Amino acid sequence: MENKVSFSVIHGLRFKTALLLLLIGILPFMVCVPISLRAYKSVSIHTDASNLMAQAAQYNTQIVTTGYILGEKNSLLDTELKAIAASYNGRILLVNSALKIVKDSYSVDIGKTIIWDNIIHSMQGDSLYYFDEDTNYLIVTVPLSNSDGDIVGTLVINKSMEYINQNVDIFVSYILIGSVVVCTLAVVIALFFSIRYSRPIRKMSDSLDAIIREYSNELPEVRSYTELEEVSGKFNEVIKKLQAIDESRQEFVSNVSHELKTPLTSMKVLADSLNGSEDVPIEMYREFMLDIGEEIDRETKIINDLLSLVRMDKSGAQLNVSAVNINELIEHILKRLKPIAEKADVEVVFESFRPVVAEVDEVKFTLVVTNLVENAIKYNEEGGWVHISLNSDHQFFFIKVEDNGLGIPEDSVDHIFDRFYRADKSHSREIGGTGLGLAITKSAIAMHNGEVKVRSKLGEGSTFDVRIPLNYIDKEVH
Ligand code: ADP
Repeated sequence: MENKVSFSVIHGLRFKTALLLLLIGILPFMVCVPISLRAYKSVSIHTDASNLMAQAAQYNTQIVTTGYILGEKNSLLDTELKAIAASYNGRILLVNSALKIVKDSYSVDIGKTIIWDNIIHSMQGDSLYYFDEDTNYLIVTVPLSNSDGDIVGTLVINKSMEYINQNVDIFVSYILIGSVVVCTLAVVIALFFSIRYSRPIRKMSDSLDAIIREYSNELPEVRSYTELEEVSGKFNEVIKKLQAIDESRQEFVSNVSHELKTPLTSMKVLADSLNGSEDVPIEMYREFMLDIGEEIDRETKIINDLLSLVRMDKSGAQLNVSAVNINELIEHILKRLKPIAEKADVEVVFESFRPVVAEVDEVKFTLVVTNLVENAIKYNEEGGWVHISLNSDHQFFFIKVEDNGLGIPEDSVDHIFDRFYRADKSHSREIGGTGLGLAITKSAIAMHNGEVKVRSKLGEGSTFDVRIPLNYIDKEVH
């Protein structure tokens, strides 16, 4: 549990914002401090080297004219050079043109030959310097020339640069104090801003909690960042959709109960009246039993329709798709519906513009055609006609079911695909309608990624236009 809490804190926006701000505060320090220290070191070395070269140049005449370079004794110069060397915590060497050490402030290497690149270059006239990182010594080599301009030797000055490290240590200790102050400030500022920035999200989360616990059914308007306002707006849309789904589910359940109860009530009334009366003639029994049988058929039809609908509504419902000859299928369905059409005295005509083979689920597609044609026959009048046509282009096939029957009132057209909706309730029930046929039709067409449209005029007839892709595309896969 504790682990889970600390994990969610680490992944929280507040922690991440604080960390980011902290990094933004500290990063310049981490980058700038080493760069500044390097710059300080290099500037110090360069300045010291220039000063040493200038100082060496001042001694040029004295060293050359007094013959000091040739090894002549000069206690004054000895003392002066030793004092300078001591003040630099270093050493001064005087090397003649034969690369022999003539003078040494340590007096240990006199007479030895010294071969070093920088001295050799200085013998050719260049003043050079070199910084030894390991020993922290700066070594300056300066050529010495006589009055004719000939180079007669090189003055080598070693200077300890230890003071740079001491200064760097002082800087670092100041920087440490500074960074502690900056870090503390960064943490405080980071905390302040992260709390401030995450507050609207917290508020939104609390409102969502209230919705989950059903104290409220809408998110309060969040006045914060545009993105969050958008999210909260979308949340409200989702909530409204869920509420609509919930309402329609409740309505569906109450409709189902009502529809299932109606035949049961009729059966109960019929059975009670038989049970309640004595000496009932056998004809009456027969008649009532026939009625009860009809009610059972009706109940069965409602249940079957409901099952088809539920199967279709189930998310992820599978289509059993295969290449089907649509012309043959329609002809087969019409053959099955012929007795109903003949009974209603309605003429059914099928017109096919071309042979059509399409990828459909044969069972579900059969429901589509059956329901549309059956309705066109049912909601018709004696002597009426139903005209079915089939056509296709390179992408879709089209089925048109047209009748000259009762037509649909204008205010009902938009609802006829709703579950249990009947435009003409008494007539529909009378002819055994459940109000589910077109809902099933629409779902089946939608599953085939198709479309259905209706045009109708009361008293003149109706036309249903269906459009379905010839090739089935599984949306979940693509
Ligand atoms: P039902 O089982 O009542 O036929 P449907 O879902 O198939 O249910 O149809 C819904 C309603 O739409 C019907 O009750 C009827 O009023 C109307 N309707 C459907 N098809 C037609 C049509 N071809 N002509 C007139 N009205 C129709």
